[in-house]
Amino acid sequence: MPINLTTIIGARPQFIKAASVSRALKSRSPEIKESIIHTGQHYDKEMSDVFFEEMKIPKPDHFLGIGGLSQGSMTGRMIESIESIFLKAKPDWILVYGDTNTTLAASLAAVKLHIPIAHVEAGLRSFNKKMPEEVNRVLTDHLSSLLFTPTSKGKENLLREGVSPKKIIECGDVMADSVFFYAKQAEEKIHLLKELDLSPRNYVLTTLHRQENTDQSDRFREILEGLFLASKERRIVWPLHPRTEKILKNENLYEKASRLLTLLPPLGYLDMLFLQKNALVIATDSGGVQKEAYLLKVPCLTLREETEWVELLEKGYNRLVPLSREAIFECLTTKNESSIEWESSLYGDGKASETIVKNLIQFSKLE
Ligand code: UDP
Repeated sequence: MPINLTTIIGARPQFIKAASVSRALKSRSPEIKESIIHTGQHYDKEMSDVFFEEMKIPKPDHFLGIGGLSQGSMTGRMIESIESIFLKAKPDWILVYGDTNTTLAASLAAVKLHIPIAHVEAGLRSFNKKMPEEVNRVLTDHLSSLLFTPTSKGKENLLREGVSPKKIIECGDVMADSVFFYAKQAEEKIHLLKELDLSPRNYVLTTLHRQENTDQSDRFREILEGLFLASKERRIVWPLHPRTEKILKNENLYEKASRLLTLLPPLGYLDMLFLQKNALVIATDSGGVQKEAYLLKVPCLTLREETEWVELLEKGYNRLVPLSREAIFECLTTKNESSIEWESSLYGDGKASETIVKNLIQFSKLE
């Protein structure tokens, strides 16, 4: 009998992570069989479908359509729907990614039914419990039976919190697997430069969607003023997260932003990789984009007070930008690329997904 594994995903970064692991799972068929639940946390063409198509992620077996709700309603409704699927499908394992409400809801549903949980991207900590993501990741880690951590720092965090070393596997980062695997296809997106009137290394690529930046009006406005000031000296290209677009409109900043910045709709993964690779610098509050900047050897400025990807700060690949308009202006307009020496092994060699699948199979045999 194959091992019956259910993957639960629902948000953009999870599709990108799952693409590589699903491919590795398929290569070990029929020993292990994956079915996929898509919660619908992100559901439209630009935030979901494009990733399934471009990255050839298997079509979900279940689509729950639970998005656009408050933190509590979303998590609660997801638990209920996921539980009813688990009761029928009786998975041997579930596989969850990262730190979203989808991750936590699936883990809570599974643990009460005594279904073992494998958590990919375990052990990361920002130590800021005001971030919903931090709460989701800490709780999920402590519910999981197998914790796949991308970094030695992640392992250290888990050991300090009393997680048994037998459950922890340091395996590299599945996002690195995706960057390496799709890099060649992304090169074909060179037409974007012409279409957007850009040349390599003459623009800043920015993304912004974290709740702690977007949901406090003063802070959001301060960041925007920093970008507006910087736009006098640098082209700023900004693929907008739908939530951020809505807030820009609510704050009456959309019109000014479209005038001074190059606003784009959310991009597909290959377009995004291409634009990241050719940027002079990347300014972001995204977790995934910080890592991709490093993997693509582009300096990164992080628009947050802390980051869980601390090794990037230690090595100087990434800097935290104080969230004042002056500091943002200063950081985005000074030369960043000068003396960085890029060492390439922080997040593994592109084989994290294979290691995950190998271990899942081994652990299932031991049970
Ligand atoms: N991304 C994308 N299109 C975009 C913006 C981001 O494909 O317009 C990708 C990005 O390259 C990275 C992932 O989405 O792989 C990061 O997701 P996001 O910033 O939404 O979430 P986070 O990583 O902060 O949890």
